[in-house]
Amino acid sequence: MRRVGLLWFNNDLRISDNATLLRVAQDVDQLICLAIEPAQTSAYDKFKPFALSSHRRQFLNDSLADLDRNLSDLGQQLIISQQSIRDSISELITQYNITHVYCSHIDGVYEQKQWQSLTQHYPMIGFHQVANNRLFEPTQLPFNIAELPNSFSKFRRKVESIQTINAVSAPKSLPPSPAHIANRDSHRIHVHKHSQGQFIGGENSAQRHLADYFIRGLASTYKETRNGLDGMDYSTKFSPWLANGCLSPRQVLTELRRYEQRVECNESTYWIYFELLWREYFKCYADKYGQRLYAFSGINNVRPTTSFYPQRFKKWCNGNTPYPIVNACMNQLNSTGYMSNRGRQLVASCLVHELNLDWRYGASYMEQQLIDYDMTSNWGNWQYLAGVGADPRGHRRFDLEKQTQIYDPKRDFIRRWQGDKGDPIVDSNDIADWPITAPTHR
Ligand code: FAD
Repeated sequence: MRRVGLLWFNNDLRISDNATLLRVAQDVDQLICLAIEPAQTSAYDKFKPFALSSHRRQFLNDSLADLDRNLSDLGQQLIISQQSIRDSISELITQYNITHVYCSHIDGVYEQKQWQSLTQHYPMIGFHQVANNRLFEPTQLPFNIAELPNSFSKFRRKVESIQTINAVSAPKSLPPSPAHIANRDSHRIHVHKHSQGQFIGGENSAQRHLADYFIRGLASTYKETRNGLDGMDYSTKFSPWLANGCLSPRQVLTELRRYEQRVECNESTYWIYFELLWREYFKCYADKYGQRLYAFSGINNVRPTTSFYPQRFKKWCNGNTPYPIVNACMNQLNSTGYMSNRGRQLVASCLVHELNLDWRYGASYMEQQLIDYDMTSNWGNWQYLAGVGADPRGHRRFDLEKQTQIYDPKRDFIRRWQGDKGDPIVDSNDIADWPITAPTHR
């Protein structure tokens, strides 16, 4: 019997070092390649972002268009669906007599549920999730996922000396599409406008950026510069491509190891690996905790003290708080779709500790805005900073003035991103907004 495969590209928008694509290339006689636009796959009801920011959408569209071009060099094409995961896959199964469905490991709970419901609905079809997009194979971990250490440091000590697997090349060829699907142009992606600036989505620009970063020797000073706030060079800027799967963590590590052999191996080069382990930790964390990644009380069942202040939240989103460094970071995010790691820590601390807001609104806003949005890193880091996650110290409050003196002593960053233009008062209610007599409760 002819084997007809359907490959859903989810967080792996690339053809090189893609274990799922390699597996499909060997397994099936005919192939359909599918991508699903993420606005339809979001899970978080009332915390759901209203729409992806134009920056995030543009980066994604560029990435999909680039994948389509790379697939067409291998005789394939990418179909884009705007429907839910369940509906997109069901429709193709019925139309094209699919016998096998593949995707890379799914991180999200909601997406995983849709996948499970498909497996139940089509018991005669083979459904395969392939381990991909991580440094380590699940079998390499020296513990079961239920026993994942509850702090990053313990995790790191257990895994950092594991021998990692080198990145591999793209398949030489792919099985053809079923004849009657060829050139179904209406399904394909049309990019009318390409990104400007440094962050251009897609595997080809990811590879250029990766090579450029190491050629310029930036890895040798990463540890000293990594806390910068502005510019392309102080940190690697691999995250947008890693988050969309245009680049794999093993491709980064393979290049890093080459650099260490050919140029220099020092604390800075180790620290890039250290940060990739953070990414790995949050992936395992999501596997272990599932739905609790999005829970208000996090993994520790501690409910943070918080109140609902819609106006404060709006001010935070718009960079209009009494805290110039926070405003500058939020203005940078809103204008570019990117914010430094230091900036993310400061704005998250402000939302939780100064403005007393529910951390999930902050996480959700970043989901909407960030071109490097990654479900596990975003929600895991937010939990950590809100004191309900994997932080053994808990309740990490940053002194925003002190942080400004350390990281922006001349206030250049604040000036550039107009952080001084915020509202100096947190709540703009005046006394006349309050009732004259206290309300009586029955
Ligand atoms: P570098 O400093 O050069 O680090 C190299 C790589 O290591 C990064 O590309 C990233 O893959 C990984 N990494 C570094 N720091 C972390 C970290 N703390 N957690 C997980 N992985 C890390 N990262 C995302 O990729 N997507 C997100 O949605 C995201 N949301 C965040 C939200 C908050 C509140 C915070 C505090 C951090 C968040 N991070 C997120 C982590 C981190 O800020 C970014 O990965 C980093 O700023 C990306 O820039 P870079 O590639 O230059 O990082």
